[in-house]
Amino acid sequence: MNPSVEARHYTHLDNRTVRCGLCPHNCTIHDGKAGTCGVRKNDGGTLVSTIYGRVTSLAMDPVEKKPLYHFYPGSAILSIGTRGCNLKCPYCQNWHISQDLSAHAEYRSPDDIVRIAVEHGSGGIAYTYSEPIIWFEYVMDTARLAREKGLKNVMVTNGFVNPAPLEELLGYVDAMNIDLKAFRDETYRRVQKGGLEAVKATIAAAYAGGCHVEVTTLVVTGINDDMDEMREIAEFISGIDPAIPWHVSRYHPSYRYHEPSTDIRFLRESCEEGRKKLHFVYCGNVPSGEGGNDTRCPRCGELVIRRVGYHTMTENLVSGGCGKCGAPLGIRA
Ligand code: SF4
Repeated sequence: MNPSVEARHYTHLDNRTVRCGLCPHNCTIHDGKAGTCGVRKNDGGTLVSTIYGRVTSLAMDPVEKKPLYHFYPGSAILSIGTRGCNLKCPYCQNWHISQDLSAHAEYRSPDDIVRIAVEHGSGGIAYTYSEPIIWFEYVMDTARLAREKGLKNVMVTNGFVNPAPLEELLGYVDAMNIDLKAFRDETYRRVQKGGLEAVKATIAAAYAGGCHVEVTTLVVTGINDDMDEMREIAEFISGIDPAIPWHVSRYHPSYRYHEPSTDIRFLRESCEEGRKKLHFVYCGNVPSGEGGNDTRCPRCGELVIRRVGYHTMTENLVSGGCGKCGAPLGIRA
């Protein structure tokens, strides 16, 4: 069975037109048309989700791959994704599912997903690979069920969502990795077709709502590889909490963007700059040993977690804090 499900967060306008209120695009959608994300469609004056339960990718992944470094480190999590996205990054690293609306999908009910997670001994479910916000109805149904079974819910998201649906999600989501793709609104509007302020608000609201938050910035050659911008991102995160982990990741040419991969030296320098403001900065998508992926206690310098690729070794972590000096590190374990 592959149900067509009425979408949430929309209003009726004249002439069977609707307005979707899920993300800040607030698309006005005429009968028979879809919104910017391509997966929420006006069917005779009713907005429906065309991707409810349509799973394009399903795998047990290390939680570090999300990336989440301070959320049950070393564990594996059932990860699922669908197709479509509400942003249009020309360098998308997952474009074959986020931008290809014909990507093969199989129907899996929320019950199926929770059962598979339990059978595989997963501690939770990660909604990832493409953008889970546009899968809102399915994520909510699955997350509710997962919570009842004692599982955690994780979202890996671009954070481009309106406050009301975000608040609902925060009732069930335990951890988020949120992309902060740039610190220039002009870049968000011109390149990713989104907006900076909404993403900043999501990061702040998720943190204030008690969700475990980590932030990722993909440093893209010619788009945001600017040291002032990197400093401003670190400053912004630090203003919320300097213990929020920041993943500074390397881009590789993909989809419609062909500039060379991010200069590793710039990436490493960005991490060093970030560490002047933040306690935990990690270099992503680089060979082991190229930029620092270990967790050290910011108070005494003790090696707390060592990482080689996706191999994670807990060295001196006690109750989520430093086993040597006792500093709380905010690591959920
Ligand atoms: S979720 Fe899709 S349809 Fe709704 S406002 Fe955003 S882009 Fe438009």
